[in-house]
Amino acid sequence: MEVEVLENKGNAAKFVLKNFNVSLANAIRRTIINGVKTLAIEDVMVYKNTSSMYDEVLAARLGLIPIKTPVELKDKGKFSFKLKEMGPKAVHASDLIPSDKDVTPAAPGMLIINLSEGESLDLEAETVWGNGEAHTKFTPAHVFYHFYPKITIPDSKVKGASKIASLCPVDILDGEKDTLSVKKGKLSDCTLCKACEDYAGSDVINVSSDTNKIVFDIESWGQLGIKDIMLETMSTLEGEVSEIAEKI
Ligand code: SF4
Repeated sequence: MEVEVLENKGNAAKFVLKNFNVSLANAIRRTIINGVKTLAIEDVMVYKNTSSMYDEVLAARLGLIPIKTPVELKDKGKFSFKLKEMGPKAVHASDLIPSDKDVTPAAPGMLIINLSEGESLDLEAETVWGNGEAHTKFTPAHVFYHFYPKITIPDSKVKGASKIASLCPVDILDGEKDTLSVKKGKLSDCTLCKACEDYAGSDVINVSSDTNKIVFDIESWGQLGIKDIMLETMSTLEGEVSEIAEKI
């Protein structure tokens, strides 16, 4: 197996897994979605709410705010946030006052509620640890994969090349001056949708995939960085596999 990192921005990464089993890639994806523990708001004590939003809806919104989850705090108790605001005001995640300076909303600009003149809120929210199996709010990332694309253009001189290029939803085709080509370094972005091939025909542009190579994309929701998500995923997978080995 070989790993080639195409992009790593800390909170988003794209890499190619070569000679890798697709079932294993799926196991990694599912473990990221369901098996990595993060913090999320679960219990909300509402002392005052004269806004137009029901307590339950407000609590559900708070639960969906991604909370930064330092791995060194894993499974260490609960953390809380206080929120006391008076309208008129647009209340954002950044208005939540945390009990711990390291456990804060990952997206401070996220809108919680618009309070009108005279409306007020006073509440306290508490986090719990959980994973995506319990609730999707704990899932740390959006993750997907596809086989590595193979695009063949037998003759680059194509009448209407710009029209074909314009159909590509990820803009990886170049169709200037009736010459069709894949933009340099953009091949791995092809989603294999085949919109180009369906329009122009497979004799003009042929899209297939290399099943020995998997393009893996991961975008963090902000609770954990990509490296921590991957390390937690591997340790969860390893734990589950060794449990099977021990019990058999
Ligand atoms: S298959 Fe889809 S994504 Fe790939 S080059 Fe064609 S139109 Fe673009």
